[in-house]
Amino acid sequence: MTIATYSAHQQDFPAARWRAEFPLLQRSVRGQPLAYLDNAATTQKPQAVIDAEARYYREINANIHRGVHWLSEQATAAHEGARERVRRFLNAREAAEIIFVRGTTEAINLVAQSYGRANLGPGDEVLITGLEHHSNIVPWQMVCAQTGATLKVATLDDTGSVRMDEFRRLLGARTRLVAVAHVSNALGTVNPVREMIDLAHAQGVPVLVDGAQAVAHTPVDVQALDCDFYAFSGHKLYAPTGIGALYGRRALLDAMPPWQGGGDMIRTVSFEGSTWNDLPYKFEAGTPHIAGAIGLGAAIEYLGEVGLEAVAAYEHELLIYGTALLQEIPGLRMIGTAAHKAGILSFVIDGLHAHDIGTVLDTEGVAIRAGHHCAMPVMEHFGVPATARASLAFYNTREDLDRLAQALRRAVEMFV
Ligand code: PLP
Repeated sequence: MTIATYSAHQQDFPAARWRAEFPLLQRSVRGQPLAYLDNAATTQKPQAVIDAEARYYREINANIHRGVHWLSEQATAAHEGARERVRRFLNAREAAEIIFVRGTTEAINLVAQSYGRANLGPGDEVLITGLEHHSNIVPWQMVCAQTGATLKVATLDDTGSVRMDEFRRLLGARTRLVAVAHVSNALGTVNPVREMIDLAHAQGVPVLVDGAQAVAHTPVDVQALDCDFYAFSGHKLYAPTGIGALYGRRALLDAMPPWQGGGDMIRTVSFEGSTWNDLPYKFEAGTPHIAGAIGLGAAIEYLGEVGLEAVAAYEHELLIYGTALLQEIPGLRMIGTAAHKAGILSFVIDGLHAHDIGTVLDTEGVAIRAGHHCAMPVMEHFGVPATARASLAFYNTREDLDRLAQALRRAVEMFV
């Protein structure tokens, strides 16, 4: 892409206009205007989402699915309307394939404890990759310990990309499930998930995709991907915390036993035994996060107005701009240099601990994250205890990245 088209794109995308709709981004922090670059941890919320959640409590708060009164009907319609929005967002075939959960972590635990427990046994294998978040490692370790199965890991190369030759080699006759991140939170690497799914399906192996870092940055179509499970968290998608969704292919969900037991997930209960409700309710025991689901629906609608194709192009341009800026900082080394990357800038600086970098930036109103990013094996692979990570959203601008670079220069001057 030439500089001319790059600038034209920057001007085309009205980041400042969208940013104005996020109340928190208008505030100052430590006496400075806020440059929020911690979007991989969680995103800020637009007024439309805050209003949708508040409207539920102000106007239609009631429990769902069981009430005979007007408020309960309204709340149920809003909750199920949100499910339909998630269905459209992921292009699932039917709303019954969308299960509301607390977030990606709960979605993966659900699949591990329901599908995993029912389908894994001694000698069986679950295949993951070296760039997974702890929440796509630990649930598989737990279910492997429970069933006698073994966890296999396709490792990374020096750029932070999965070694596909190793992935192919490990995908064997004993593999029962593949679980891979769509996008790495620690590095930004975009996994070739479509290729991985095709390879797994050629062996008859279902695939779970951890979409926590993908859904806010690129359009996702579960039918086009042909994945079997897709998990994401609302809070990384401009929606409230405590709500997320698991997409599952109906044939698999139908055959899976429920995970948690309680109200709503049953059809009949007696002391002799119980029978299960239809999908998706079979997997939604207890009163759900109704306000959160409604907020998630509002976030998806909002993102539809912004346009995910435009977001992807804009964030890519910001990534290129930010990468060029950071590479000029003395002693800075980028961690994660895959050819196909989402808007994550993970780095270390000679002689400076990542936490010190984060603390100095904070005094300048620049919010980033420092640590292992719940991906300790990634840190181990690169031989670093931690990285500093700036992660982008569509409301970020070049000015945020200029401020990041300026503050980093000051940190280097102060400490090195
Ligand atoms: N997977 C990835 C790739 C993530 O980045 C995260 C959160 O950072 C998770 C899973 C877990 O998401 P949550 O904590 O919202 O359940």
